[in-house]
Amino acid sequence: TGRLREVSGGKVEKWRSEAEWDDRLDYFVKKKLRIWCRLRNGAWVSGHIQSTSGEKAMVLLSDGSVVTVPVGEVLPANPDVLEGVDDLMQLSYLNEPSVLHNLQHRYAQDMIYSKAGPALIAINPFKDIQLYGNEFVTAYRQKLLNDPHVYSIADTAYDRMMEDEISQSIIISGGSGSGKTETAKFAMEYLAMLGGGSNGIEKEVLQTSYILEAFGNAKTSRNNNSSRFGKLIEIHFNTAGRICGAKIQTLILEKSRVVQLLDGERSYHIFYQLCAGAPPTLRDKLKLKGASEYKYLNQSGCLVIHDVDDAEEFCKLMEALNTVRISERDQEHAFQMIASVLWLGNITFQIIDNESHVEVVQSEAVTNAASLIGCTVNDLILALSTCQIQAGKDKIAKSLTVEQATDRRDALAKFIYANLFDWIVDQMNRNLAMDKEQMGRSINILDIYGFESFKRNTFEQFLINYANERLQQHVNRHLLKLEQEEYELDGIDWSKVDFEDNQECLNLFEKKPIGLISLLNEESNSLKATDLTFACKLKQHIKSSPCFKSEREKFCIRHYAGEVTYDATGILAKNRDVLHPDIIQLLSSSDSHLPEDKKFSIPSTDTGVLDFQKQSVATKFKDNLFKLMQQLENTIPHFICCIKPNNKQLPGMSDKDLVIEQLRCCGVLEVVRISRSGYPTRLTHQEFTSRYGFLLPKDNASQDPLSMSVAILHQFGILPELYQVGYTKLYFRSGQIASLEDVRNQV
Ligand code: ATP
Ligand code: MG
Repeated sequence: TGRLREVSGGKVEKWRSEAEWDDRLDYFVKKKLRIWCRLRNGAWVSGHIQSTSGEKAMVLLSDGSVVTVPVGEVLPANPDVLEGVDDLMQLSYLNEPSVLHNLQHRYAQDMIYSKAGPALIAINPFKDIQLYGNEFVTAYRQKLLNDPHVYSIADTAYDRMMEDEISQSIIISGGSGSGKTETAKFAMEYLAMLGGGSNGIEKEVLQTSYILEAFGNAKTSRNNNSSRFGKLIEIHFNTAGRICGAKIQTLILEKSRVVQLLDGERSYHIFYQLCAGAPPTLRDKLKLKGASEYKYLNQSGCLVIHDVDDAEEFCKLMEALNTVRISERDQEHAFQMIASVLWLGNITFQIIDNESHVEVVQSEAVTNAASLIGCTVNDLILALSTCQIQAGKDKIAKSLTVEQATDRRDALAKFIYANLFDWIVDQMNRNLAMDKEQMGRSINILDIYGFESFKRNTFEQFLINYANERLQQHVNRHLLKLEQEEYELDGIDWSKVDFEDNQECLNLFEKKPIGLISLLNEESNSLKATDLTFACKLKQHIKSSPCFKSEREKFCIRHYAGEVTYDATGILAKNRDVLHPDIIQLLSSSDSHLPEDKKFSIPSTDTGVLDFQKQSVATKFKDNLFKLMQQLENTIPHFICCIKPNNKQLPGMSDKDLVIEQLRCCGVLEVVRISRSGYPTRLTHQEFTSRYGFLLPKDNASQDPLSMSVAILHQFGILPELYQVGYTKLYFRSGQIASLEDVRNQV
């Protein structure tokens, strides 16, 4: 507070090509004002222009060296009084180097949050910072603090929900590892403290995150705790503003991770936690060994996460499971399923003829897996290594090949795990379900898997990135589009701010019948199709999209956050995701003794025929995504844009190019540009007169602040259309403080 609130016209970047910036440039030279210039390597550095000649500027850099750069590579820097402002709207000159500098200046002092107009920017600190906990919650609640913060976003959402009786949403976007999940937890923590009653449900709500992370997060090359599912958490409040329930909705889990890992990555945390932390009796029951003994875990050469003690995490998990009232028997059932997956992974096959047909190698893996799943060893062996063929009235068993058998085994493991994940979510939802009578409004927190681009990208990245496109459109629509439409509707003289619309890319995915998802489904439904025919089909049919390129079994999509090349290998099978009837048979006979709620939710199929009519994974994903987005449309949104400062997950390190890239993706400059049109600069009369009052003739100084403000405005001949006088404040069009500062500098 007390800081100058000030912004400039949205035209700054265009000055480069306009006479206006040339005049301005001379002024910057004369006054030795700070500028940004872009060096040949693309980096922006600050300095002062010493002189210009033609299209060249000689710039003195802060290290004392002088460089010559084209005038077009020079942009104005902001006056020092604006250094580190907490809302980018206050910057006089809105350009990429200025925004970046401002954010970095704050970040270096652990001020990781900034505002970009209505949106919050959060830069991942990769270390603990002292901004959270009880004291801060109280300070934000009592409005003693108003620095940008996720708490303040949650606080605004809560107040609006209570005042307007409309459900709210907190929408968190950002790439993988940018801090979305942590931010979501801080928001939940704040709401839990505000809405905390005496029934303890808020504690349960908080503990759900821990459970979801144990079962749905894993170490990837980008993030040691990467969410491999998307989630929307609804927190329900009663009319008194107390939490009365919650509901978790998820977007499908990346289940391929259960059986296959990239080097240096891990499977879901729970596997390692269980292996490291299970107490002796449980170990015995599950025949559990160390994580390094299991193929599904040891294949990637990475079993531990730096600074994480899996055994300790297991204790916390047990506590969380107890808090959300998952019974001991249910917990044991869950661990049994986890262990069965691990043992399945250790089952091996040996070739028995020269057509590479196989049989299962007898081992403790088969025995343990069978007993944990609840079937006989023989049934498991038959289901994994043979195909049951109807011959007249009899069934005969035909041996599978190595590849087929491995696929069967992995499909079974993936199914068990995905089923378990959904089951756990259901259990939590059941326990947190609100009393219908109490139901009032909710605050919804959306945290999905961030945009991903790896060396090799497959079906999983295809879906994750598609979800991010949808999310980005939601953000764009609210922050950029609707706002402008309202100005236009209101007849305000408004020059439109263009922004990168991602509709084209969404069309590429969603259009019928010639979109990526339609074509994928079409191929998935054809028995003759292969991954290669799918890739060919794309090449053949999708010609006109500027977001698409294809080459052999690969195709490339230009996303809002960058270009990603996808490998079509395996894509049809993953999209069909059919469980072989022999496996279904095995599962249904194995769980017949279980109570209804613990049975596998097995897809129904016509026996003996692969059922291609069932909904494909991509279609289900799209439908789920639409449902979530629809739900969000009925709420008042609050946006948080998370930024990852470096790719090394290290504190105190900021990679400028990486940050700029993300600012562009979130449309930060455009959001600010739109928000600050109108009268975004606000100063109380006191603030204004204490900074500029000394410029008035002496006899004016005794007047009240309002009259003094008006006198100053007249003195400087500021045009009436550039400001409005309020009872307590002056409201300026953007850019006005910079000109007042200029006058002040000249005195
Ligand atoms: P993904 O899309 O892969 O799920 P994400 O955006 O959810 O990524 P997080 O898991 O929230 O990213 O953050 C990654 C890591 O960054 C965290 O495990 C934590 O170490 C660190 N981190 C993020 N935000 C904060 C914060 N506010 N304070 C301290 N550390 C943080
Ligand atoms: Mg996450």
